[in-house]
Amino acid sequence: MKRKEINSARTPVYRDAGFELPDAGTTSDAFAAETDHEREPDLYIYSRYRNPTVVATEEAVMATEGSGWALLAQSGMAAIDISLSIFQESGRKSRWLFFSEIYGGTLSYIASILEKRRGLKIDFFKPTGADYDYELLERTISEAKPDLVYFETISNPLLIVAEGRRIIQLAKKYGARVIIDNTFATPLLWKPLDYGADIVIHSATKYLSGHGNLTAGVICGNDKELMKSAIEYRKFVGHMLSPDDAYRLQTQLSTFQLRFRQQCDNAAKVAAVLYSSPEVSSVLYPGLDTHVTHKAAKDLTGGRGYGAIVTFDLRGDTKDEKRARRDRFIAAVYPDIRLIPTLGDACTILMPVESVWGVKYPEPGLIRMSMGFEPGEEIIEVISRGLRS
Ligand SMILES: *Cc1c(COP(=O)(O)O)cnc(C)c1O
Repeated sequence: MKRKEINSARTPVYRDAGFELPDAGTTSDAFAAETDHEREPDLYIYSRYRNPTVVATEEAVMATEGSGWALLAQSGMAAIDISLSIFQESGRKSRWLFFSEIYGGTLSYIASILEKRRGLKIDFFKPTGADYDYELLERTISEAKPDLVYFETISNPLLIVAEGRRIIQLAKKYGARVIIDNTFATPLLWKPLDYGADIVIHSATKYLSGHGNLTAGVICGNDKELMKSAIEYRKFVGHMLSPDDAYRLQTQLSTFQLRFRQQCDNAAKVAAVLYSSPEVSSVLYPGLDTHVTHKAAKDLTGGRGYGAIVTFDLRGDTKDEKRARRDRFIAAVYPDIRLIPTLGDACTILMPVESVWGVKYPEPGLIRMSMGFEPGEEIIEVISRGLRS
């Protein structure tokens, strides 16, 4: 049965696996056009290649990021897999430099996929104390001559803010390409493509979708050849986002700025309350001028915001005391603030840092809190209850 054109205000969810083609001649033309991996072919063929709902959402992401291209994938990890794989060429030895302060899943991907299965040898750049040493970074890059540098704008869970423009400049000076995971900063705080980054990725599971109800990844770029290579890789590996998730991402993206501003505001308010509490020994939030990378954050974002995560350490004389203090806090803020292992959700949620990243960050009093967009006073009341417990 032929579909009637409907005057829908949004691109609807097209759940077709395959699209109807009129005749054999058109079919061969459509397949020929598809192998060029352009962003907008005339006809859709198959939803793993390209889907109209996904394309409409990609256009919304391009508008948010200000990028020439945006591709969606099933998850942030799928976006990372695509972005890295397009830089791998057979017969060429890849020299890749990753900052060590990156998402745990990315570190596991490096160990399990890049090193164990693909045989790459990966170099890491570690912070010196609580910040990156940029002179050391220049020496590292000039000696190791990586062809790719990968970092996150704001690190997890310690919230080290990278001097993004400086890192891009350094990488370019020595001929390296740059991939940035900008999930924590979002395009509202910084747009790395404007400063010469080659690829920007986001876990759209977090702030871009913002309701903890889907997983998705974003790859943005302006380099046509790179992005066509990403389309090809996504198509053959099957990392395409589903039309249902694309539709939800598209509608939720329209409230992204409103939500994220409120989340950043809430983070600032909560950080101030925690900072003045005798129960808290330190607050890691780049908006506080006591944070080691406060100046870097201010320069990078122009003071538009400092992200929506606050990590803090509860006081205690011994490790056991800190652990008990932490557990009392978590119990007392329940059920208004729950322990949910993600971030960028609509509601404020938390994670005990030691339970997940204990090997790397063993402090038992550390809690990472991801601010929701509830009214700030409500969250502060709940947190005050937790601090009194
Ligand atoms: C969550 C996250 C990812 C992975 O995204 P998924 O959508 O979970 O696959 C990558 N980078 C950062 C910084 C993240 O927070």
